[in-house]
Formats: sequence, C-alpha cells, structure tokens
Amino acid sequence: MNENVIALDGPAGSGKSTVARQIAEKIGFNYLDTGAFYRALTLFLYRLYEKTPNAGEFSDWVKTNEAETSISHAHILCEFSAGNENRIFLNNEDVSLAIRTPEITREIKHIANKRIYRDFVNKELHSLAKLHKLLMDGRDIGTEVFPDAKFKFYLTASSKVRAERRTLQLKEQGISADQNEIEREIILRDKSDMERDIAPLYQAKDAILIDTDILSKNSVISKILEILDR
Ligand code: C5P
Repeated sequence: MNENVIALDGPAGSGKSTVARQIAEKIGFNYLDTGAFYRALTLFLYRLYEKTPNAGEFSDWVKTNEAETSISHAHILCEFSAGNENRIFLNNEDVSLAIRTPEITREIKHIANKRIYRDFVNKELHSLAKLHKLLMDGRDIGTEVFPDAKFKFYLTASSKVRAERRTLQLKEQGISADQNEIEREIILRDKSDMERDIAPLYQAKDAILIDTDILSKNSVISKILEILDR
C-alpha cells in the first residue's frame, strides 16, 4: 500500500484540479497535475516537429524513431508553489501557460496513446512520489500508475454540466465561449481518453465514485476529506 499517493482520476472538466488543490493544502500533501506532464511533453515534441522538414502529420511523426529518441532531451520539472499551484518547466523554461493552448490540448491524444511517452511520464511521477506526499489528478493514476495508492477517487459529471462550468470559468476570465462547442470538445476528449488502447480512463474497482453533477465544490471537498479522515 502506497501511503504517499492519493489518486484522483476522472474526465476533463470534472473539477479535479480545484478540488485536489484545496484538499492537498488541508492535509499537507502536494498537489500534482499529471496532465501537465503530458501537455509539456506534447509541447516539446510539437516544437521539434515544427522544426523538422517534411515531417508529415504530427500523429505520424510522433511514431518515428527521431521523435521517440528526442524525449531524452525533455526535462520536465514541476514546482510546488503556494496555494498548491503547479508551475511547469520544460528544459528550464516556465511553460505553465504555453501548455494550455487549444492546439496542445488537441494534439495530446497522439502522445497519450503511446506506451513510450506514457512510460516517460510515469517514470517522472514515480520519482516524485518517492520524495513527496502527492495528491495526483489524472486519468490512470489509480488504475495504472499507482494501483497501490492508499486512497482512490473517481470524479465525474455529465458533459453538459462540465461544459456549463467551463463556459462560466471562461466568462469570468473575460473570454466568450460557445457552450455547445465546448461540450462537443469535452465529448471528443472523453472518447479519446476512454477508448484509447493504452491506459484508458476508467474507474478503478477500488476507487470511490463521486458524481459532481449534483454536488457543489465544497460538498465534494468535505466528502473526500471525510473519507480520508476515517
Ligand atoms: O488533465 P488535463 O486535461 O490537463 O490532461 C490533458 C490530457 O492528458 C488528457 O486529456 C489525457 O489525454 C492526458 N492524460 C493522460 N493521463 C493522465 C493525465 C492526463 O493520458 N494521467
């Protein structure tokens, strides 16, 4: 049993990161956004791809030997700052914002579906878990990466509610967004995360399911804290 890891998996937009950050703060764990590692690795590969003449489609290029061997030069570092914000560095460059563009979000699936890239990320996650107590959010933490995690949660919500929340979040940042379009993107991302051949997203048998459709953020946090406290 791994006492240093709490796994919080679930689909995009289920509210994992907000909840995880606050819980981690309360229980003295560090919050680790594992999606950020996939994003940073995608950014690294995408930049290299753009510099490669006649590389063809990104989805094909990531399968080449050149792409696969290049990742030995990708050094991804996560800094835990106050409030459990994660700052992500790629070869010493702060890429915390650069990894969040729609382009990177769209291309991640080609990386997340390849064993060599998943192994790269998982190695980093295991090294970090040797040094810190971590509350990790992701897709496969409780199923593949830390099947021995002491606590596992699976957060979910309907695509409609997730799209509603995301649209509101964007509005608060002054960005106008079409809720239907956002819902379509969420459904597509669910599909590629749940149907991929390697480490697909699903609820681990021993994970506690929390449906956030009907629960406020604070209720989700209290519910999880109550379970951790037992
Ligand atoms: O969590 P976030 O939405 O930033 O993750 C981006 C993508 O990274 C996910 O849609 C998924 O394809 C991939 N991912 C993954 N396994 C994880 C975390 C993220 O495959 N543990």
